[in-house]
Amino acid sequence: MKTLKGWVLLMGLCALSTASEPTGRYKAIYDQLLSLQAKNPQLAKVFSIGTNDEGTEIYALRVSVTPEQMDSAKIGQLIVATHHGNEGGSTLFAVEYIKDLLKRYQTDELWRANLSQMEWTIIPVLNVSGYNANRRHEHGEDPNRDYPGPCKTKGYGKLKSIRTLMSFLETRPFAGSVTAHGYVGNFTYPWGFYTDNNKTLDENQYRQIFRKVAEVNGYSYGNAGDAVYPANGCFEDYVYWKHGSWSLLLELRTGSSSDVAGTVPAIARYFDLIDSSPSSKNQFQANCTRVNGPDLRGE
Ligand SMILES: [Zn+2]
Repeated sequence: MKTLKGWVLLMGLCALSTASEPTGRYKAIYDQLLSLQAKNPQLAKVFSIGTNDEGTEIYALRVSVTPEQMDSAKIGQLIVATHHGNEGGSTLFAVEYIKDLLKRYQTDELWRANLSQMEWTIIPVLNVSGYNANRRHEHGEDPNRDYPGPCKTKGYGKLKSIRTLMSFLETRPFAGSVTAHGYVGNFTYPWGFYTDNNKTLDENQYRQIFRKVAEVNGYSYGNAGDAVYPANGCFEDYVYWKHGSWSLLLELRTGSSSDVAGTVPAIARYFDLIDSSPSSKNQFQANCTRVNGPDLRGE
């Protein structure tokens, strides 16, 4: 039986559990996701992977032939953009990739057979407050240094957004992963941290795939530690090390609409070339170096 006291308690709990609504630039991206879902109800579903430190939902779009619910029997593919709030080109990339993907589902006979086996999760904005403020960091932390790794065994997971994404990665396997940043103009693969040997056991396979990906738009490619700078605690290493997901770090060149338009087919090619299951050769077998060294990477 409901008493007045019970109702007051219930309403209080509801108020506590109500997440913050999207605001600012993030709301515009959320509205775009809703619009894409409305136009493609048979293929696209907006959902939340969980909340950040503000209690704001971090929204993703699921694209599949059965989008209403997660289907772990399908091949999981993941795109995460906007770890850095001031890299709006990466946000644009995620949205443009979704549009192109939906078009391929609808019009491309050749693609459709492959795509029907896949389930895509695309997160256009991970660092919501940073995106709204056009700021790299989230709560003064660099989100793309907040993951654990073979050479980062403490001082990670300070941000709830990162803990939320790490939890989400446990919910199903992802064969492939792309994380989008700017602005260098290259594609890189693990390892990207400070180690005396940054070549994974998949080095040859990575190199062959990335050469073909880079042919599409003329970007450079290579090992992240060699081609950019080493940094500890990055998503691109974490997702491969922890889950074996084939991992590509996209550094857009300028993030302009033409740069993004030229890069979308390159990433589509990447997902076409990788194996349909995570790597089983993702163990780190070298030594960490300069664990507390300077973080030189600005991208
Ligand atoms: Zn970045």
